[in-house]
Amino acid sequence: MNAEIIAVGSEMLGVSRLDTNSLYLTAELNKLGVEVVAKAVIGDDRDRLADAVRAAMSRAEILILSGGLGPTEDDVTREAVAQALDRKLVYSAEVAGWLEQRFAAARRKMAENNKRQAYVIEGADLLPNDRGTAPGQWVEESGSVAMLLPGPPHELKAMFERQCLPRIARVVPKQVIRTLFWRVAGMGESDLDHLIAPVYKKYENPVTTILAAAGDIQIHLRARCKTEAEGDALLAEVAGPMELLLGDRLYSHNGDPLEAVVGELLRKNHATVSVAESATGGMLGERLTSVAGSSEYFAGGFITYNDTMKASLLAVPQELLDEHGAVSREVAEAMAIGARRRTASTYALSVTGVAGPTGGSEKTPVGTMYVGFADAAGTYVAHRQFLGDRQRIRSFVAQMAMDVLRRRILGKL
Ligand code: AMP
Ligand code: MG
Repeated sequence: MNAEIIAVGSEMLGVSRLDTNSLYLTAELNKLGVEVVAKAVIGDDRDRLADAVRAAMSRAEILILSGGLGPTEDDVTREAVAQALDRKLVYSAEVAGWLEQRFAAARRKMAENNKRQAYVIEGADLLPNDRGTAPGQWVEESGSVAMLLPGPPHELKAMFERQCLPRIARVVPKQVIRTLFWRVAGMGESDLDHLIAPVYKKYENPVTTILAAAGDIQIHLRARCKTEAEGDALLAEVAGPMELLLGDRLYSHNGDPLEAVVGELLRKNHATVSVAESATGGMLGERLTSVAGSSEYFAGGFITYNDTMKASLLAVPQELLDEHGAVSREVAEAMAIGARRRTASTYALSVTGVAGPTGGSEKTPVGTMYVGFADAAGTYVAHRQFLGDRQRIRSFVAQMAMDVLRRRILGKL
C-alpha cells in the first residue's frame, strides 16, 4: 500500500522553515509496511492545493495533509480538499460547540474567524483534537483516503497516533519492510554503480538506493514482503552477489561509520592509534574520538602545520623538509613514525597535503594529499590527487586515512 504526503504552508517554501511532519509520518507509515512514494510542499493556495490533492488521490491509497487547518483566511486545506473531491463544506454545530467549550475553558472569547474551523467536508469523519482548536478530518473517495491533520507537530503526532494509525492498521494488508544499510569506501559513485547495477537492476523489490558523500558511499536496500523471513531471503538474494563484487571495500554492514568500524577493530585487537595531522587540522582526531569509549584505543594526536612543529613535535628530520617539502611522501612517512614513537601507539596515521584554494604549486597542486601509516612492521604511504573545494578535499582525505588504517589492521594493504 502506498502513501503520499502534502505539507501545506507557504512558510515552508521559504528558506527558514522545513517540513518535519512528513518525516515523522513516514517513519510511522513504514512501520506498518506502507511506503511513502511521493511528498510535496504546497503554499497556501486553494486551487494549486486542490490540483495536488486530486493528483495524489488518483495515485495513492493514502494521502496525508498537514497544516492549513487554522482559523485564518490563508488556511485553505478544508476548502481545497472539498474542491478536489467536488464536495460541499458543511457547517457543523457539533464542532462549533467543541470550539466554544475549548475557549470557555481557557476563559477566552472565541474570535469570529474560528468558526471557519467548524466546517467539515461532506461525508468526512471528524478527528478530535485535544491539543489545539483545529479538528482533523478523514475522508474517503473511490478506495483512497485523505487525512487532514493540523500543522503544529505535537497536535499532528497525537492525532495521527491515536486516531489515524489504528484505522490504517485495520486496512493495510499485512506487510513488512526489511532493510539493509551498507557503507563502502575507496571507490567513486559511478565505479560502484557500474559494478553492482547489473545485480540490483534485475529487482524491483528490494529497491536499491545509492547515496554518495566524500569518499563514502551508502547502499540502502528495502524489501517489501508478507513476512520477515521472505523479506530477509529477498535481501540476501540481492546482497550476496553484491557483497562478492564489493569485497573488502564494503566496510559496514549495519550503517556504522568508518570511525566506529575502525574503533571496533582496534578494541578487538587491543591496539592503539595516534594521528599526526597537517591538512586535516584535527579531523582525524575528531572522527576517531566521536565514538563512545574511544579513549580505550585513541592515544592522542598532533596538529602540526609549520615545519618547526613537524620537526619539534614529531621529530621529522629537517633535511627531509628541506629536500622534499612538507607535502611529500617522505614527510608523511616521517610524521607517522614520529607520532607512533612519541605516543608509543600500535599504529599511527598522518596526513599532509594542500587543501587549497591557495598554496598550490606546479609540483604540489591543490588537492595533493599524502596519507602515512606506521606500525611495528614498517610504513606505508598513499598518495592521491583530489578535486573539489577545501572542505571536500579535507573530507575525502580524512576518509581515505581512516580506510588506510582499516585495511592495514585487516592485513589488506
Ligand atoms: P497551520 O496548521 O498551517 O496553521 O500550521 C501551524 C504551524 O504548524 C506552523 O506555523 C508551523 O509552525 C507548524 N507546521 C505546519 N506544517 C508543518 C510541517 N509540515 N512540519 C513542521 N511544522 C509544521
Ligand atoms: Mg499554515
